[in-house]
Amino acid sequence: MLGGIMHFERDRKNPTRIFYVIDEDECVECSVCLRSGCCPTEALYQPELVWPRTVRKNFSDPLKIHPETRIPGRGTEEMKTNEVTGRYRRGAYGMAFELGRPGVGARFHDVQKVARALAALGIVFEENNPVTKLMVDRTKGLIKPEVLDEKVLSAIVEFMIPAERLPQILDVLDRVSQEIDTVVSGDIISRVGEDGSVPYANEILKRNRFLSINGKSNVGLGRPLANV
Ligand code: SF4
Repeated sequence: MLGGIMHFERDRKNPTRIFYVIDEDECVECSVCLRSGCCPTEALYQPELVWPRTVRKNFSDPLKIHPETRIPGRGTEEMKTNEVTGRYRRGAYGMAFELGRPGVGARFHDVQKVARALAALGIVFEENNPVTKLMVDRTKGLIKPEVLDEKVLSAIVEFMIPAERLPQILDVLDRVSQEIDTVVSGDIISRVGEDGSVPYANEILKRNRFLSINGKSNVGLGRPLANV
């Protein structure tokens, strides 16, 4: 359950009984409670979802195939297969700003703040990304107004930049993260240097930011398409 999403109430007819009440405005429709089988009386059920509430489940339930990207989850196929597609070449970074986490969540008005700040820098958002699909004006980072109050487990704003723009983008992340009501983490996707070094590591460390390096190796299940 997301933090603060449930509270207890007493049965008015039988005060010795208490029951859970789910705050539907805080629920992100992840379906973890349903799949866990945590309710012994099967009182939990999945109500029919209608737009714009459907967006909660699309972004929050890891088993839901997103209707626009046709893959489960909040990122893109590209982020998961880049060792094969070779899209991320030396001298360029894939960037992903992730708003929210399990137990915290994010609302799209905060996602829009990040998107607007990036759009003002001329950033071109990843085409096949679920957040981009919700934008009504990508040049301004504007998201469909009817979803702005919807809450999801997390949402990822995704784009590519030339490597030299990284300091500028990180400055924006630092500034906007002060204005939003959830947690933000930044992903940088790149190839390692010829010597195996991580090209952006110094930029992160000099800002006293936490740096977690995750490697991905091609193990021969797909032929790399790029060698540059
Ligand atoms: S669907 Fe997810 S967020 Fe909603 S009550 Fe169940 S566990 Fe909590």
